[in-house]
Amino acid sequence: MRDPSRFAWPDGIRAAVTLTFDDARESQLIHGIPILDRHDVKATFYVSLTGVDQRLDDWRRVVGGGHEIGNHSINHVCSGNFCWPSTLTLEDYSLERMEEDILAAQKGIEDRLGVSPRTFAYPCGQSFVGRGEQCRSYTPIVARHFIAGRRFREETFNDPSFCDLARLAGTEGDGLSFDQLRTIIHQAADEGAWIVLAIHDVGLDQPHQVMSTDTLEQLCTHCKDPTNAIWIDTTEHIADFINRTRSQS
Ligand SMILES: [Zn+2]
Repeated sequence: MRDPSRFAWPDGIRAAVTLTFDDARESQLIHGIPILDRHDVKATFYVSLTGVDQRLDDWRRVVGGGHEIGNHSINHVCSGNFCWPSTLTLEDYSLERMEEDILAAQKGIEDRLGVSPRTFAYPCGQSFVGRGEQCRSYTPIVARHFIAGRRFREETFNDPSFCDLARLAGTEGDGLSFDQLRTIIHQAADEGAWIVLAIHDVGLDQPHQVMSTDTLEQLCTHCKDPTNAIWIDTTEHIADFINRTRSQS
């Protein structure tokens, strides 16, 4: 376990928590945003442009509400081992195409929502292109254009004194009960860590990729309760704090 004294969070805070929501799914607007706003929790939304176009006015209201909009690329290219029908796979992608893809998403978000994303979420949490000896990490591209990049389904939390902000560990938040999440957050607090939860749908009756409204409600209550000494905020704000702190030490 890391030594929590290596990094000082502000104001006696013991751990940082970021809620991130991927793909601009409609349930995030219908079920997620009202809960977040009621608790004054600011979250990060790694949007797909297709999802934004379907409910553009609502996504503009999300921006107006102080939430962060992040880049999630245009084509959402993942390994060909994922079974959804896609002709684009990371194994056959190039660094050049990935950078074009990311920059096209950036422009698309700027045009639609009037904000310029400063953080990125790797589609499917995967950060490579190519295969075998030609396999390359595209993290350097993410580092060039963003202050932070979030991966997915990692076993660890982020050590704020050490972590590479361009490849932040993302912890799957879907499908967990509040009790399970509370245990994870306690563990992060013992380590003084930053936990970045990745969530897809909210409040839908489906077996996978969903957090229930009750769980989100309890999670927000827990993280906003001052006795728990948790700082819940966007990827951007916490990454900015870490960068500032590192530059002063
Ligand atoms: Zn996604």
